[in-house]
Amino acid sequence: MSTPVIEISDLTKKYGSYTAVDKLNLSIEKGEVFGLLGPNGAGKSTTILMLMGLSESDSGSVKVCNIDPERNPINVKQKVGYLPEDVGFYDDLTGFENLMYTARLNSVSGIEAQKRSLQLLERVGLSEDMHKKAGKYSRGMRQRLGLADVLIKNPEVIILDEPTLGIDPTGVKAFLELIVQLSKQDGITVLFSSHHLHQVQQVCDRVGIFVKGKLLAEGNVDSLAKQLFNSGAYTIEVGLAANGNSEKTTLLNKVKNIETVESVQVEGDIWRIECTQDISNQISKTIIDSGVGLSHLYKKEYGLDDIYHRYFEGGNEDE
Ligand code: ADP
Ligand code: MG
Repeated sequence: MSTPVIEISDLTKKYGSYTAVDKLNLSIEKGEVFGLLGPNGAGKSTTILMLMGLSESDSGSVKVCNIDPERNPINVKQKVGYLPEDVGFYDDLTGFENLMYTARLNSVSGIEAQKRSLQLLERVGLSEDMHKKAGKYSRGMRQRLGLADVLIKNPEVIILDEPTLGIDPTGVKAFLELIVQLSKQDGITVLFSSHHLHQVQQVCDRVGIFVKGKLLAEGNVDSLAKQLFNSGAYTIEVGLAANGNSEKTTLLNKVKNIETVESVQVEGDIWRIECTQDISNQISKTIIDSGVGLSHLYKKEYGLDDIYHRYFEGGNEDE
């Protein structure tokens, strides 16, 4: 396996006696879109600040592109584009002028700066508005300008802190599509923090669930469900017809003996079968072959909704 682009080991950050990030371990591979998902106050921004060398850790280590950001914050900033929660622009300058300014700061020369600014404005869908003052941009436009701004220096990694906050649904969709494009077409590694489960689910290859400074689980959505729920990832509910009562005991044993079945809860003629794989077909066949009638079969997959209800209670996803 290649060296991870972002490597965090036992990272801890305290504010006074309050531990905002608690022994965090995480690695992110090149080209991945990783979602750091957690409710407000989970410690997402604090973690990101440490990745950028903008805040000092209390213990543990961080490497970004093999650089220690605490020791070499300037080297990290050359390789990593960071879009903070509240991105600041010169409101009296146009979108184009703001990009040209960032280009100069990053030592990109005149003609090259102009070429790159125009290309990026096109890419983020701001060509038509490039000569409007940034102060007149909507929140969604500001975020897109922010993305163009971090891309000016051709970063290897981009870190986006709650980039979709306050953008309308159409704007969110366009923004998320851009992120996927940057990853798939340009091979840029993306770390994206959010408290919006559905947005993260749409774009991230892998997700880490971050609550009260601790990473509870990480993986793709399927494996998260398996890690976070003790039972299997699927519950298949079957309704049995009232006939065939004598066959039901034999049938129950047969179902329990299916390899991926973890447990069966029986409530009269409704059985809830928890299993680690989607075996709806096998279950319906077993029931029908037994001679017991099947009145319904309903499959419930644990997804981000279930994770949300269990771990993000009190948070409001639409905030
Ligand atoms: P998130 O970005 O996930 O919403 P933050 O990293 O901003 O969470 O905050 C994590 C916790 O640390 C919160 O309880 C917050 O109040 C606290 N915190 C963040 N920044 C500071 C600070 N500069 N001083 C004191 N406490 C802070
Ligand atoms: Mg935050």
